[in-house]
Amino acid sequence: MSFEATITSIHQMTPEVKQFVVRADEEFEYEPGQHTTVQFDPEEAGIDAEEDGDVVRPYTATNLPGTNAITLAIKRYDEGTASVYMHERDTDDTITLGDLSGNLTLRDTDEDVVFVSTGTGITPIIPMLRQYVEEGTGEIHFFYGEKTQENIMYRETIDALDAQNENLSVVYSLSDEDWDGPTGHVQEHIEEYIEDLDDRRYYTCGVPQMVVDTKERLDELGVPDDHVVSEGWEDGAVED
Ligand SMILES: Cc1cc2nc3c(=O)[nH]c(=O)nc-3n(C[C@H](O)[C@H](O)[C@H](O)COP(=O)(O)OP(=O)(O)OC[C@H]3O[C@@H](n4cnc5c(N)ncnc54)[C@H](O)[C@@H]3O)c2cc1C
Repeated sequence: MSFEATITSIHQMTPEVKQFVVRADEEFEYEPGQHTTVQFDPEEAGIDAEEDGDVVRPYTATNLPGTNAITLAIKRYDEGTASVYMHERDTDDTITLGDLSGNLTLRDTDEDVVFVSTGTGITPIIPMLRQYVEEGTGEIHFFYGEKTQENIMYRETIDALDAQNENLSVVYSLSDEDWDGPTGHVQEHIEEYIEDLDDRRYYTCGVPQMVVDTKERLDELGVPDDHVVSEGWEDGAVED
């Protein structure tokens, strides 16, 4: 089902990412980690699109449910369709959204969790992290890979949660900047920071290759398959 919603606030989060607050008439119903879809007719919007008919792209709600508003953090690709459409919106514009759905949601808030993400793959992790610090009873490790410090999304939120929650440990890894912290592929740092790897649930989201590499590495390290949760489409995207 689709419905209309109004953009009530826009904030430039990083050089390429804008955050949108989008308000609807009714409360949004979803589990933290799930995504809506942005839908539009490209011809009407004056946007070039490869497909005939409406463009439909998934974007993840980064706030917790319980209100009439969701926040979306959307990275602009210059050659993109929906990301360009959204970056050209203004406050008070109306957009069409689809019902929220998706597989990347917390399975159990009493077990230890490890979040592994890169880039905009952080968008489902942020609401799951917010939910876990409210409800969870175990340890949280959060590994986040980005190119440079200025590209790190939600850094203020993550650092504040890190300071407030002794059970949270955060590792940023940068692939395109020399700094004092870890560098290179984020998934390669997991085994440096965690000893009892197979006793935890892993949630991973990001570029498909990172998700597939993370799953393979965890498998090699003896973590059972069912301890690793992802959106589920990434293997197919890498094989293509
Ligand atoms: C479950 C799910 C949740 C998602 N949540 C978010 C979210 O919260 N925030 C967010 O920003 N995105 C999210 N995405 C990605 C989003 O749905 C779009 O794929 C993305 O915005 C690009 O769409 P587009 O229409 O602009 O580009 P498209 O029209 O799909 O692609 C056109 C061109 O844009 C460029 N391009 C598009 N995507 C990429 C890429 N990943 N890397 C490099 N170049 C690219 C390429 O040149 C490509 O040929 C999510 C995707 C999924 C599957």
